Amino acid sequence: MKVLVIGSGGREHALVWALAQDPEVEEIVAAPGNPGIAVLPPAHDGQTIVCRSVDIADHDGVVALAKEFGADLAVVGPEAPLVAGLADPLREAGIAVFGPSKDAAQIEGSKAFAKDVMATASVPTGRAYVCTTPEQAAEAIDAFGPPYVVKDDGLAAGKGVVVTSDRDEALQHAAGCEQVLIEEYLDGPEVSLFAITDGTTVLPMQPAQDFKRLKDGDEGPNTGGMGAYTPLPWAPEGLVDEVCERVLQPVVDELRRRGTPFTGLLYAGLALTSRGVRVIEFNCRFGDPETQALLPMLQTPLGSVLYAAATGKLEEFGPLHWQPGSAVTVVVASKKYPSNPRKGDLITGLDEAQAAGALVFHAGTAVDGEDLVTAGGRVLAVTATGDDLPTARERAYAAVDLIRIKGSQHRTDIALNAARSDLAV
Ligand code: AMP
Repeated sequence: MKVLVIGSGGREHALVWALAQDPEVEEIVAAPGNPGIAVLPPAHDGQTIVCRSVDIADHDGVVALAKEFGADLAVVGPEAPLVAGLADPLREAGIAVFGPSKDAAQIEGSKAFAKDVMATASVPTGRAYVCTTPEQAAEAIDAFGPPYVVKDDGLAAGKGVVVTSDRDEALQHAAGCEQVLIEEYLDGPEVSLFAITDGTTVLPMQPAQDFKRLKDGDEGPNTGGMGAYTPLPWAPEGLVDEVCERVLQPVVDELRRRGTPFTGLLYAGLALTSRGVRVIEFNCRFGDPETQALLPMLQTPLGSVLYAAATGKLEEFGPLHWQPGSAVTVVVASKKYPSNPRKGDLITGLDEAQAAGALVFHAGTAVDGEDLVTAGGRVLAVTATGDDLPTARERAYAAVDLIRIKGSQHRTDIALNAARSDLAV
């Protein structure tokens, strides 16, 4: 199988790494890829992994590249090209695509659309008002009371949501958005549940949790995600089945009923509230950094399952298989992330971290002559696995400690509470 992977972040590095482990995959072209993918060794004889620089906003260029090397499967990593409709021309060119059409990607591209789908499919979620004027927003904000949840309707690269008890801050965020959702505050632990779907059949992955705030103890600003772990030792029994039955399958069925079937990865961000499971958001692609924790645990060959989804054959595929044990991912971010991430800082210690048994996925790196340097906010995602969460955690942090980047930041409490509960089990 020849696979085209679109994207350049830590998620795509993890996808390429996992695809390479599949004996069916003989060629992977990452577009544009990143310096970590570029040096990824083949996982078996005859396999090739290359990066090709391409502007992913140029859909014709991407289709031409896929045709040029005879891609059997295209996997679109990030949300922006999906919401922009990249999957459509690839499908029209006869290529199997793992990733939703432009219409189905609206489940992430518009929070109002997602709420409408959920309402029709009776999926449990927070009550919300869709507002288009500051007056409407103020009225909704006062109707709910603090803490206020204010969401930009459209894609905002992780910066669209403000949760605050400061009424002025809530109003200010609402004023900066064209269309805004004011939502009921949902308390309780958050769970990310990913499902692979061909538009009809839903194959859930195991649950994961990510850490959105920059600093330990969930302090500091929201980020793209500072770490993740899987599975969740504290998750209630039956959670995956319940979410499949009440959330994932109804949404997949509703999108098919609307004539816009969803093929790809449906990501449910959930809050386990005292009143039961509620959907916080949907994403139309693999989450970052949960993917960097999940894929190293997946025993099912990734290329084969994504191809089965892309060709509508998931029903015959059977459930996913997972390695026992746990995985922990710690994100190393550059100085001044997220406000003004510094670029060009030297990165060292990666060989040592990998020799210590960790997988080091590149997220924001660049090659400068002989050096590897920072090139983005989140620089690396360091994953380690172990028989249990405390062991995986210890290994991930031992590897992070070997990596040197001037002024870099990482959280020291990824999976800490869960590891304690894992010990108690
Ligand atoms: P989202 O981009 O929708 O995932 O939101 C980012 C983060 O904001 C989530 O991971 C939650 O921590 C928080 N959040 C979003 N919606 C709510 C809500 N209704 N109640 C409480 N927290 C929320």
